[in-house]
Amino acid sequence: MNVKKISLIVVIGIIATTTFAQQGDPKLTEVYTPVPKVVTPGKVNSDAPSDAIILFGGKNLDEWVTTSDTLKPATWKVEKDEITVNKAVGNIQTKKSFTDYQLHIEWRIPFNITGEGQARGNSGVFLASTGPGDSGYELQVLDNYNNSTYVNGQAGSIYKQSIPLANACKKPGEWQAYDIVWTAPRFNEDGTLKTPARVTTFQNGVLVQNNYELKGQTAYIGAPVYKKHGAAPIKLQAHGDKSEPISYRNIWIREL
Ligand code: MG
Repeated sequence: MNVKKISLIVVIGIIATTTFAQQGDPKLTEVYTPVPKVVTPGKVNSDAPSDAIILFGGKNLDEWVTTSDTLKPATWKVEKDEITVNKAVGNIQTKKSFTDYQLHIEWRIPFNITGEGQARGNSGVFLASTGPGDSGYELQVLDNYNNSTYVNGQAGSIYKQSIPLANACKKPGEWQAYDIVWTAPRFNEDGTLKTPARVTTFQNGVLVQNNYELKGQTAYIGAPVYKKHGAAPIKLQAHGDKSEPISYRNIWIREL
């Protein structure tokens, strides 16, 4: 075989691989090692400081709307100071938009959770929900207490971008906390990226993301990309898996 033929085969191979990626094999972006070490967390202080905006204090979803129609109020179930995901209703997001902030949010996987891999208590905190058709930037919520999946998609990951530094998951049925510092990306007038987004996250007091610089919006399929946006709401995911819906409580934010 001559050099031209070999080159042609290589080019066809590259095109085929790229096309396959774009058309959508989600497995191409799944990573399985290194597996984050398991760390048993301690107790977490969750009281809102004096200058925090309370996004959910236990009584109502007045600060939230339905993502698919932001004129509609959020209608996830509110009971006993907690919100439970309503998968039929879909995602909800804050009325207000934010740029840089510190966010505290607590979540609980039901004690009787079923399913495995990504289909076990999947939800997510989208740190900026930039609009219809965009994926936004997802901090994964999932039960990874004795449940393995691709490590760049487990709890504490920036979905398919950054493996958590530890697995600090508590048992199903126990409340867990994320404390997040989010620095929004900045864009030039022409839409190009000026500075990337950065995120630091503690899960139950354990550092799982250390000033991680995002490569773009988190994508289920293919590579992350940036798309210009400004201040944006925070979104909670109603994931389509069949497992029992998870709950959230005590959500507050400090704008920076
Ligand atoms: Mg998710």
